[in-house]
Amino acid sequence: MSDNQKQYVYSFQEGDGKNKMLLGGKGSNLCEMFQIGLNVPPGYVISTEACLSYLEKEALPDGLMDSVHTQMQALEAATGKGFGSSDNPLLVSVRSGAAMSMPGMMDTILNLGLNSDTLQHVIEYTGDERFGYDAYRRFIQLFGKVALGIPDEMFDEPFEAIKAREGAKEDIALSADNLKEISGLFLEVVHSQTGLPFPEDPYKQLELAIRAVFASWNGKRAIDYRRQFNITPDMANGTAVCICTMVFGNRGDDSATGVAFTRNPGTGENLLYGEYLVNAQGEDVVAGIRTPKPIDQMAEEMPEMHRQIEELRSKLENHYSEVQDFEFTIERDILYCLQTRNGKMNATAMVRTSVEMEAQGLITREQALLRINPELLEQMLFPRLDPDASDEPLAKGLPASPGAAHGRAVFDADRAEVMSHRGERVILIREETKPEDIHGFFVSEAILTSRGGKTSHAAVVARGMGKPCVAGAEGIEVDVQARRAHIGAVVIREGDIITIDGTSGNVYLGEVPTLEAEFTEELKTLLSWADKRARMKVMANADIPEDAVRALSYGAMGIGLCRTERMFNATDRLPIVLEMIISDTTEQRQAALDKLLPIQRGDFVELLKTMSPNPVTIRLLDPPIHEFLPSELQLLDDLVHLKHLRNSMRGSEVLAASISQLYPGGIMPDGGELPVVLQMADPSLVDEAIEKKEIILRKVRSLFEVNPMLGHRGVRLGITSPEIYSMQIRSVLEAACECQKQGIEVHPEIMIPQVCTHHELAFIRKLVEKIRIEVEEENGIKPIFKFGTMIEVVRACTKAGMLANEVEFFSFGTNDLTQATFSFSREDAENKFLPMYQEAGILNDNPFEVLDVTGVGKMMELAIGWGREVKPDLKVGICGEHGGHPESIKFCHSIGLDYVSCSGPRVPIARLAAAHAALLEEST
Ligand code: PEP
Ligand code: MG
Repeated sequence: MSDNQKQYVYSFQEGDGKNKMLLGGKGSNLCEMFQIGLNVPPGYVISTEACLSYLEKEALPDGLMDSVHTQMQALEAATGKGFGSSDNPLLVSVRSGAAMSMPGMMDTILNLGLNSDTLQHVIEYTGDERFGYDAYRRFIQLFGKVALGIPDEMFDEPFEAIKAREGAKEDIALSADNLKEISGLFLEVVHSQTGLPFPEDPYKQLELAIRAVFASWNGKRAIDYRRQFNITPDMANGTAVCICTMVFGNRGDDSATGVAFTRNPGTGENLLYGEYLVNAQGEDVVAGIRTPKPIDQMAEEMPEMHRQIEELRSKLENHYSEVQDFEFTIERDILYCLQTRNGKMNATAMVRTSVEMEAQGLITREQALLRINPELLEQMLFPRLDPDASDEPLAKGLPASPGAAHGRAVFDADRAEVMSHRGERVILIREETKPEDIHGFFVSEAILTSRGGKTSHAAVVARGMGKPCVAGAEGIEVDVQARRAHIGAVVIREGDIITIDGTSGNVYLGEVPTLEAEFTEELKTLLSWADKRARMKVMANADIPEDAVRALSYGAMGIGLCRTERMFNATDRLPIVLEMIISDTTEQRQAALDKLLPIQRGDFVELLKTMSPNPVTIRLLDPPIHEFLPSELQLLDDLVHLKHLRNSMRGSEVLAASISQLYPGGIMPDGGELPVVLQMADPSLVDEAIEKKEIILRKVRSLFEVNPMLGHRGVRLGITSPEIYSMQIRSVLEAACECQKQGIEVHPEIMIPQVCTHHELAFIRKLVEKIRIEVEEENGIKPIFKFGTMIEVVRACTKAGMLANEVEFFSFGTNDLTQATFSFSREDAENKFLPMYQEAGILNDNPFEVLDVTGVGKMMELAIGWGREVKPDLKVGICGEHGGHPESIKFCHSIGLDYVSCSGPRVPIARLAAAHAALLEEST
């Protein structure tokens, strides 16, 4: 088809309101609004195809300007005005608009059609000379810049000179005469820069403007923007040009301009929400020159117009089935709708409007679910920084557990307890955390570490507890001894107030205002709909009974991962664990395990009862055992202090013995009493402490591994120290029996970590079987349970068929599986090279956060296939951190997982994401 035959220009009556690729978002929207009967100022759209042709041939397509002429004549007929006419001039806006919104990236020209003649009429009909010249000088500058390529500075210089001469601080202080003078100077700038006078002919202006808008598609700003936001040609190709009659809200007290939402975007309340200004231009609202009034006031001031806006509101919602954010202008009692788009709202408003619009029949339940991005719910589940607060962050780390909190800085867990008991809110700051810090977590509002990633101990524990955490803030140097931290030149001392935002990773000095979480009734309703549509179940990762209770309140359908080592962490349990680790003989070790058994059993009973009748997946001990011991450095330091103390005690003994020799007859030279040497603790206590520390030190050294995360952990530990796993298995089975005897339906699942061969599973299964028989005999009841394995090493994936023979379920531990597949350390990668990898585009996402679908995901898919070939009803889930990430959840759905498991507070997000996955699959 030749250029001549091709249609490049579409009036608002004829353009296809759904064809954004052809007419751009703005253009198609204007056509649609026009066609549904809204009063849009007449106009037309030049297509993106015309733009692409122009860019390719460096010339406007043949016949384009003829079509533009025809359209201008139609506009003249529709408005009763004349383009270039001096008695009733038609002015237009010329705007860019691509298929994807690219705010501010391309060019717009307003008031096109102004020239020395038409200006006079504008002044007459507005009765405002100042307004006329202000519009004129703006038009000359904007047109000069956009269409003629004259740099802004050329206009700014004479403008600033006149402002200085007049002593005007603000533009608003310039008079009509000043603006008239400025307009004259601007015309001279155009002449001197282009060698030609400013184009007076409106059609010439229009042609130059159209060319300029087309060219702006390939401007640097627009290209950078498309690159930054990955806008590819199949998403937006070229810009359309919208040409629209200008309407004026500043033609008197019967004119106004404003912006409104069809519902309150902050609360979702079903009421018109917005602002307006009488006798003003849209620019005045944006520039904040005058304070707009709340739209309710219009009901009194301009009742008929208010009624029409209410009518417009319901037309918009009925048509778009979505909350709209619209702009309007009233010119002499005629209401025009200039623009409408889907309203951006906070999570509370999104959820409320979903539930209410469904009830009104405006949208279906599916739409109510799908219109909310699951990630948005985070706002409602965690306290967050007040978006109006403008504090500058002091440091930045990884956003490891969402939510915001403030409190007094404290650098060790014991001090955190002391300060918290005094009633202070505290934030625990550590280089990294260890199990022995757990009591500090309990009393802290939030956790901040200078090392470690999003799957570090601090991150995982904080997420489980629903407390904010910023991890790996490497700019912070923690000095525990001195109880302070350095961030560049700033020092944070114990007791200083800081705020951390675990959603962004920012750390602030002082208290930044926060907004509370709000788990509303509407959210509960929406999530109940989600559960009905999802195929996958959503479990929680919860380690202790308190976490389980909280997870339940978020709608968890069971526990997908209980990391049993976390149960050892309480201050009354760690000494027993220590005793177990350092014991030399089997008897000593068994004695310690015998003390632990009832404690674990008690916890399991509580977890099982809390979750009844849902499953509770209990993972046997996983971390290398040295993690329960202090570090070698710490022990050496303690020993130095203890040995000094012992010497001091010896010294005071010697001093006590020497007193009588120093003062024969027991009389001081001044006749006073003999000094009493301070009675210190029993020296044998110190000797005992030294002895114990030395034993622990020897154990720490004997347990040392170069690569502990690839070392003696998980099932390997279970096989080399079967008495530990035996104690745990017995605790689970006894707990099950206890609940069953009470008539409570429970479903414990014993899960083995770090498995790489079916022989390991066979070994542990035998142990389980032996204990099951014993427990059954002792209790006279058959414990109900399942036996399964984590899949978190590469070999487990490749041997999934063999593993499936041994178990009833698989659970993908994608934290370790990601580490193993990439060979990236999960503790270090995120704050060493991963950010640079992402910046350079080597990796799009952090694979510890977003499941690497093509690599790790492929391993999962293969493993599921091989596993289910052997055992078709094999239950499969995921319990790595990816289990709470919406995109990853979608993938898990697609490869047939039965459930995802994530930290408790992410459960609502995962529930919605699981429903999305199912609904989107149905719709494809
Ligand atoms: C995992 O590796 O994904 C997992 C859940 O276990 P952990 O994070 O405790 O190693
Ligand atoms: Mg793991």
